[in-house]
Amino acid sequence: AALRRLAAAEPSLSAFLTVDAAAALAAARAVDADVAAGRGGGALAGVPLAVKDNLCTAGLTTTAASAVLADHTPAYTATAVARAVAAGAVVLGKTNMDEFGMGSSTERSAFGPTANPWDTTRVPGGSSGGSAAAVAAGVTPVALGTDTGGSVRQPASFCGVTGYKPSYGRVSRHGLLAYASSLDTVGVLAGSVADAAVLAGVMAGGDGFDPTALDGPVPDLSVDLAAVDAAGPSPLAGLTVGIVSDERVAVDAAAAAAVEATAETLRGLGATTRPVSLPRLPAAVAAYYVLAPAEASANLARYDGLRYGSRGAAAGSTNVADLVAGTRGGRLGDETRRRILLGTFALSAGYHDALYGRAQAVRAAVAADYAAAWAAGVDVLLSAVAPAAAPRRGAGDAHPTAVYAADALTVPPSLAGLPAVAVPAGVDVATGGMPVGVQLVGPRGEDARVLRVGHAFQ
Ligand code: GLN
Repeated sequence: AALRRLAAAEPSLSAFLTVDAAAALAAARAVDADVAAGRGGGALAGVPLAVKDNLCTAGLTTTAASAVLADHTPAYTATAVARAVAAGAVVLGKTNMDEFGMGSSTERSAFGPTANPWDTTRVPGGSSGGSAAAVAAGVTPVALGTDTGGSVRQPASFCGVTGYKPSYGRVSRHGLLAYASSLDTVGVLAGSVADAAVLAGVMAGGDGFDPTALDGPVPDLSVDLAAVDAAGPSPLAGLTVGIVSDERVAVDAAAAAAVEATAETLRGLGATTRPVSLPRLPAAVAAYYVLAPAEASANLARYDGLRYGSRGAAAGSTNVADLVAGTRGGRLGDETRRRILLGTFALSAGYHDALYGRAQAVRAAVAADYAAAWAAGVDVLLSAVAPAAAPRRGAGDAHPTAVYAADALTVPPSLAGLPAVAVPAGVDVATGGMPVGVQLVGPRGEDARVLRVGHAFQ
């Protein structure tokens, strides 16, 4: 049935880069056989899963939507994917994205853009736009995305679905093609917080292949949600919700209305709300767009046509310098090369302290602002996800820095490694009813808390 829905949706969406229908059917039948024989029946038995194309899948092409990896088939599967499959999930295919996760619209894919299922003249957001579109169109109930500075939460908001970015380290990054390693997380796009919690719970936990993956027991996220349902009419009594208030981070009327409506709902469920100022928040985007490109410039050095990457027209080069320059210049997209140049510049002698060093200091200051809010008794923070609903395709082409600026509310939790969930919270009538989400952020490691609050008002 999922393959039929995919076939019906794909002509107008282009959410998928690779679909292996035969493998998906075989995997589904194997789950059926297991269940019939009284074996298996894991938490995700038979659940169709779409996987962002920067997560390695053994035997299934994995490109990160880059021409340099157009014919790359990994030999191993990312831990997050492997754990979902071990719990019975059936991988339907690999979803489109901005190249290496660099972008906010899924238009920066070497293989063409994905459309927003609500209005195909608009972008689905990004960089996990293919996964968000697949869930929004009902092709799969859940999908894997990755979130470095908003790439799960922002497309979730643009497509009217739930997006969960775990605390940094909660889910292993092993097998994720790295963009900015100190910020990268594997997250979930789903039809509900409850569904996201089940998939995340299966993937979470330590991993010998990723030293940054948190060891120790993983809280059972789904049980925590059941406690909310059992708690009666005021499940959030005693909870203090801080509403991020700073006119320097402007959002439009529809985004502001979604926050206000959510605050009202949370109060109705027993929570207390109060405005909270995070004074260094407005500097977060500038710091992020130094730090993330700096890390990317190192991580992407491997796509040189020697260690990794198809050489394209550079294959005929007669010396190494031409081969490397030709591969990188010919096979990486404009935005990716812009980030490599920015990052290399920020790390270069004479600029390292002024740019990279200062950005690190801002990162620490943003984390300190959050810490101050928690210390002052705030349990979760509520804000918009993006300044506006999904724009039309092409709108950001001439304005890369304006596109960066729109990450103002998703980037700060990433800099601090915090868990965050984006939940649908209204529509924007000015765009003909495009969905608008809100974001809940909690202290590092308090993933269950943000999911619990999101579930309560969903
Ligand atoms: N839009 C941001 C960027 O381009 C975030 C991307 C992401 O989270 N992967 O870097």
